[in-house]
Amino acid sequence: MDFYSIIKKPSGDELVEKYRTDFEYDDSVAKGEAPRCPRCNSFVGMLESVPPFQVHLETWGDGYGDLAFWMSDFLVTLRFRDEFERSGLSGLQRFDSTECLSHKHYGRKLGDPPEYFRTIPRIGGAKVDIRASEIERGEGKHPTCDLCLSGGGVLKRWKRIVIDESTWDGSDIFYPYGIPGALVVSKKFYNWAIAKRFRNLTFRQSADHAHDFYPWESATR
Ligand SMILES: [Zn+2]
Repeated sequence: MDFYSIIKKPSGDELVEKYRTDFEYDDSVAKGEAPRCPRCNSFVGMLESVPPFQVHLETWGDGYGDLAFWMSDFLVTLRFRDEFERSGLSGLQRFDSTECLSHKHYGRKLGDPPEYFRTIPRIGGAKVDIRASEIERGEGKHPTCDLCLSGGGVLKRWKRIVIDESTWDGSDIFYPYGIPGALVVSKKFYNWAIAKRFRNLTFRQSADHAHDFYPWESATR
């Protein structure tokens, strides 16, 4: 089974820069609980923001994206929401309306933003295969929780993202346990998104998705 990673802020990708859109919650947006692992009770995500959602947008190019990214949540346009709901795909739990309070542009000056909806992907839709992904952690530590794969010290790097398919719940878009923040989609989602030509959505095959938070360490070895 092929999985793909959504690259939220790829460097040097002109098409993405052209429609790159970021957002931030306004300080008035309340925070609820952070999601926890059902087995070890560790936090497995960030504090969840609670509606109503007032946001600030930033654009970097020639137009608004179909998606606007923040940390773990993101905003989608009405077209994205409607297409997703029609698609039969799973993994996005809800779409809440937002109100845009300000818009800052670094690229071209744009008119009023489109209507955006806040959504959040499924957390823990699968576990990554730690060994096959060649995940390296600080001091050679290993996860202490067998479900959420937390407790293993600082995540330093991985060579690829391999999903342990026996643990996959079938979600088409999800954050897998084992590499916090890595947003993974099924091949079905990937094919759908490509066909719909959403702006500023960039993928890489998860099998080719490496990352190194400490590249200077690797360089000296
Ligand atoms: Zn756990």
